[in-house]
Parts: sequence; C-alpha cells; structure tokens
Amino acid sequence: MAEIGDVFKPGDKVPNSGIYKVLHDKNHVQEHEVTCVFGKPFPPCRGCSHPRFKLLRVAQHIDNNEHFRGQ
Ligand SMILES: [Zn+2]
Repeated sequence: MAEIGDVFKPGDKVPNSGIYKVLHDKNHVQEHEVTCVFGKPFPPCRGCSHPRFKLLRVAQHIDNNEHFRGQ
C-alpha cells in the first residue's frame, strides 16, 4: 500500500488507483493531475524524459469495489 506523497516513475506499477500529480521537466509542461489505475505501469511521457507521479489521493476503481456488480 502506497502512502500519500509517494513518488513513482515510468515503468513502476501503479500501487493504488487514484489521483496522481504529474511533475514534468519544467521545459515541457506544467504539473497536472491524472487518474491512474492499479496494476498498470506508469507510462513514459511524450514530451520529456523523466516525469514523476506523486500520489495525491487514493480512490478504488469501481470495477474492484465490492458494492457493485460486474457487467
Ligand atoms: Zn513530460
């Protein structure tokens, strides 16, 4: 289980679904937020070589939530 504020790089497996802040090279683009899904690798960036993904908020994917039926 990751903790809020943990930082990941491309190729790392997403430890928890949720909202991540992406920090790019400052010459590429300003930081922004994305939703990442558990188990997939964080992707490389098209515009810079070393984005970093910082966990802001964990939010379980609805497909994995026990209260909902699968489709
Ligand atoms: Zn970038």
